[in-house]
Amino acid sequence: MVSFSELSLKNKLTIMILATSGLMIIVISAIFVINEALSIRRSVINNISAIAGITAINSTAALSFQDPDTATELLEALKVEPHIVAAAIYNAKGELFAEFSTDPRASLPSEIKISNVQELTDKNSLFDIAQTKSLTENYLDMMRPIKLNGKLIGVVFIRADQRWIYSHIKLFALIVSGIMAALIIISYFISSRLQRIISVPIENLARTIQTVKNRQDFSVRVKASPSADELGMLMDGFNNMLEQIQERDRRLEMNREQLERQVALRTEALKLSEAQKKKLWVQKKIQQAYGELVSQMNSIDINEMLEKCLNQISEVANVTWGSVFLWENGRQGLFIKKTFCAPSLEEWRLHNPSILNQLEGLGSQLAQQVFEQGEMISKTWPQDPDNGLFSPLEVYGYPLSFQCKGIGVLVLAGVRQQDDYTLTFLENATRQLGVAVHNAMTFEDLRQKSAQLKKSIIELQRASRMKSDFLANMSHELRTPLNAIIGFSELLLDRHFGDLNETQRDYLSDVLESGRHLLDLINDILDLSKIEAGKVELALADVSVEDVLQSSLTMIRHKAMKHQIRLSIKAEDIPKTIKADEQKLKQILYNLVSNAVKFTKDGGSIELHAETVTRNWIEQNLPGPFKENISNLSHSTSESFLKISVRDTGIGIKPEFLSKIFDAFEQVDSSRSKRYKGTGLGLALCKNFVELHEGIIWVESKAGKGSTFSFVLPISGPSHMEKDEKK
Ligand code: ADP
Repeated sequence: MVSFSELSLKNKLTIMILATSGLMIIVISAIFVINEALSIRRSVINNISAIAGITAINSTAALSFQDPDTATELLEALKVEPHIVAAAIYNAKGELFAEFSTDPRASLPSEIKISNVQELTDKNSLFDIAQTKSLTENYLDMMRPIKLNGKLIGVVFIRADQRWIYSHIKLFALIVSGIMAALIIISYFISSRLQRIISVPIENLARTIQTVKNRQDFSVRVKASPSADELGMLMDGFNNMLEQIQERDRRLEMNREQLERQVALRTEALKLSEAQKKKLWVQKKIQQAYGELVSQMNSIDINEMLEKCLNQISEVANVTWGSVFLWENGRQGLFIKKTFCAPSLEEWRLHNPSILNQLEGLGSQLAQQVFEQGEMISKTWPQDPDNGLFSPLEVYGYPLSFQCKGIGVLVLAGVRQQDDYTLTFLENATRQLGVAVHNAMTFEDLRQKSAQLKKSIIELQRASRMKSDFLANMSHELRTPLNAIIGFSELLLDRHFGDLNETQRDYLSDVLESGRHLLDLINDILDLSKIEAGKVELALADVSVEDVLQSSLTMIRHKAMKHQIRLSIKAEDIPKTIKADEQKLKQILYNLVSNAVKFTKDGGSIELHAETVTRNWIEQNLPGPFKENISNLSHSTSESFLKISVRDTGIGIKPEFLSKIFDAFEQVDSSRSKRYKGTGLGLALCKNFVELHEGIIWVESKAGKGSTFSFVLPISGPSHMEKDEKK
């Protein structure tokens, strides 16, 4: 059985309306029926009461005259009233006087208690008498006092059948019930119609809610009737709420999509950054390896360098075998300079003993091809089904070049194909390796050459020493007879041994002049060879600069005057003395001044100029061809130098001879040497003496305009001598 709460709203509403209206109909019908019953009874009572009253009045005479027949007739006249079933008149004693009845069952008592009637009469209430009889009883009894002159003489007793009232009321009730049923049916129909006003929108609402719930679809709407009541408001409110939910849902969906997009992007970015990280890590590793490789290229021993580099490269590129082929100019071919074999190669050899030969063979072929084409070539190793696992997959050949010129090839054999990073690494590594190989080869070449040079220098030094020794000995041996020749020639010319004729004198003069020249030459050679043999030592002393300058001019004055050459000295801000070997200093000056006189035309001039200069000044003013001699100063600790220049207005020197004239036996040209006699040793000696003093000598000249020979000497003397002195 379905309980009320489980019923549908439609049924509930129908039942509720029906119950309410039904109850109302029933109550109203009941009121109707009761009212009808009461009003009928009241009219019956009134009617009977009126009849009783009339009968009482009419029977007064009969009773007074004790005429029962008249009384009976009077009573029988009551037949006209169909409801009266019995009537009787009692006398004042309560005894039956006249009687009438239509139904024996309704016959009246033969005697009544008149005292009761008297009481009732006193009260004068007819209705009360009537009311003593209830409706449930079959008969309605009514008594009416019969009075005469206010005195009770009898009682009229009328008994009416009230059962018709019941049947009438029953009929009425039946009719009312019919009407009620009809009304209830009508009200059912009306209520089932009316309930729709409420139930249909609510059902719509419920259906919509169900749809929303099932489909999660917030776009559906309740088909709301445009009523302005609470239901309309509810529908509108619900639709509004749905709209808001839909809007929120839409925004939520949008946000979700956006979020999903963001998450996807972030995931992508994360993935990317993972890939990026990996890429960076590999790059860093390769960079590191590259750095290590480059640092290993510093080795100048080509074998060591190649071994280290091959190890490093094979580690990064996971190479099993690698070889550096170098181009040999002599043989016009490539040869293997260095080979790398990974430990796994041993395993390969166990399965394929000829693998190394095969690698070298294919490597050489590939190297030749790469060297000719000048670009990287990779080849797939011809796979042998039996030894597939014990042979490389790919063989790579990289050209090694220096300044676009091929110098060799790097061949690598690996068990895996190289990725982009490793290929880039290999490209850079081989480019760098080309430079490193070239450098190492150049260094090797240089080392060999320098070893040879060293050997030659040692030999040369030995030869030079021997030459100097020989010259020193020879000069000594030559000087003795020469001195004899000069001495005897002078004696003969001075006529110590008698007169000489013209021819004898001329010849003897030539012998003397040649002898002296030879002696000069031998002396110079002896000096030079002594210097070269390291046998010359400086006799350092505080030398007066002024004196040295003066004496150098004095020695040459006579000769200068002969050629009308003016001599002058200019000394500015010079020290009084310098630490030097006076003899050597004088010889330097004498050589320079005598050269100046020798190469200056008659009427020219020669100036000796002395000044103090700094090391800085020398460094900045030393002429180009002599710049390399600046290193001579590095021995000296002195910062102040005495500079002496010999300036002439002579024939000058061509620029190409400037740097040569300080070399031994060097004369500017042969035609000159014939004209101006000389040995070509004077300036070489000057240079040696100056350098012994840790100084520099140089010349500035313009052909035809004159020359200036200058030299600087440390004022405090040569420092190596200082040290020796201290020792
Ligand atoms: P020599 O004994 O031949 O003079 P030096 O060594 O003194 O030898 O000089 C070498 C050469 O330098 C000379 O032959 C000469 O050509 C050149 N020379 C030297 N001094 C002068 C100068 N003052 N003027 C021009 N040429 C000079």
